[in-house]
Amino acid sequence: MTPTGLSMDVRTTVKRRVLISGAGISGPALAYWLHRAGCAVTVVEKAGGPRAGGYPIDIRGTATEVVRRMGILPHLRDAHIDSRRCTFLNADGSEVASVDPRALAGGAGGQDVEVRRGDLAALLHALVRDDVEFLFGDSAATLDQHGQGVDVTFRSGRRDTFDLVVGADGMHSQTRESLFGPEERFHRYLGYCFAVFTMPNTFGLSHELIVWNTPGKAAVLYAVGDDDELHAFLNFHHPEPPCEALRNPGAQRDLVDAVFAGAGWEVPGMVRAMRDADDLFFDTAGQIRMPHWSSGRVVLVGDAAYAPSFLTGQGTSLALAGAYMLAHALATHRDHTAAFAAYERGLREFVAMNQALAGKGAARLFPTTARALEQRNTMLRGLVTLPSAPAPPAHSALTLPEFAPMR
Ligand SMILES: Cc1cc2nc3c(=O)[nH]c(=O)nc-3n(C[C@H](O)[C@H](O)[C@H](O)COP(=O)(O)OP(=O)(O)OC[C@H]3O[C@@H](n4cnc5c(N)ncnc54)[C@H](O)[C@@H]3O)c2cc1C
Repeated sequence: MTPTGLSMDVRTTVKRRVLISGAGISGPALAYWLHRAGCAVTVVEKAGGPRAGGYPIDIRGTATEVVRRMGILPHLRDAHIDSRRCTFLNADGSEVASVDPRALAGGAGGQDVEVRRGDLAALLHALVRDDVEFLFGDSAATLDQHGQGVDVTFRSGRRDTFDLVVGADGMHSQTRESLFGPEERFHRYLGYCFAVFTMPNTFGLSHELIVWNTPGKAAVLYAVGDDDELHAFLNFHHPEPPCEALRNPGAQRDLVDAVFAGAGWEVPGMVRAMRDADDLFFDTAGQIRMPHWSSGRVVLVGDAAYAPSFLTGQGTSLALAGAYMLAHALATHRDHTAAFAAYERGLREFVAMNQALAGKGAARLFPTTARALEQRNTMLRGLVTLPSAPAPPAHSALTLPEFAPMR
């Protein structure tokens, strides 16, 4: 793939060695840009390979420009899901409204892309795997900073020293915890828990979503193309984060089972499928909000620093834009402290605008009271006649600087 819009690396000084923890979305994207900036990059990922799975993700606004500059936009357009219909159901399975998905999310004139998360993760990995070192099935156990670098001891026993370490290890980042303290300090719970898994497409669904709601509960079946598997999603309001369930997959299944007991439509079958699923992803809807994203030679990117929650649909876009801005700052400032400050200056407002979308997303898709649900349904019936909602300004609120050669 040919990268576009780049100045080539003209560094003559010793290569900066950077360790990135996490090979999700922000990790490989950052690896790509840091390699272009002349760094020697190692990515350590606790899983045995790039992780597939998860719900389809959106790449919107500014992030679309990031992937265009990486040269992968055409591949992502090929993988675009292009759902044709989103049907909302009442508690008994009767139809509320069937709308064009773009009328809900804002299609930005057909510029946004929606792909399987695994497709994006695999594409990013393929883009950089020949240029950076990947250590799968391992993770950083200790980070010891000093004047010249960061000494890292890996769980495998391996030891190494890097100039910089980046935590791209997601919402529940170990890097963040080891540097800044427990997640509770930075996690802002948004009142929902969700379970995502795949199940057989025995319904004959194609290129569409079906959304079932009662107050505080939602069940979604998502047919990506003509796949014989469906992405199933069970979301529910829970006043406090279920701390025990977050650590225990068995407790997660029990909790979902209990919450959806007695629900109508196809929900009982979905709950049974969830019990059998080997790809269950359970989490809370929450945001990470931190006063600073770096400490010394260690910096955070993506969900680890500023997860916006699925309610915004902007997690992946923030991860991609954040990776670009961090690499740009490091390519522009030889001093890492100045670089990390520039990264925060350039990205904070964009993050804040996108995190602020969470309230709107929750109210629209997952109302918690009968009254709010009825209002939502009235709004949906009105959308049936509208072609497409405008994209929120937050999606494109960041103008990317040109990528400069490393100083
Ligand atoms: C398998 C999977 C499924 C997902 N499904 C959904 C979904 O359905 N809905 C949704 O809203 N979001 C989902 N997400 C989160 C979503 O991908 C992110 O919000 C977004 O893409 C930002 O990406 P990120 O790279 O910052 O974090 P992530 O995509 O979460 O990537 C973080 C990576 O770091 C790795 N990691 C974690 N801890 C360590 C460690 N100590 N050492 C080394 N590696 C570590 C993880 O295995 C993961 O590969 C999912 C993430 C994963 C990993």
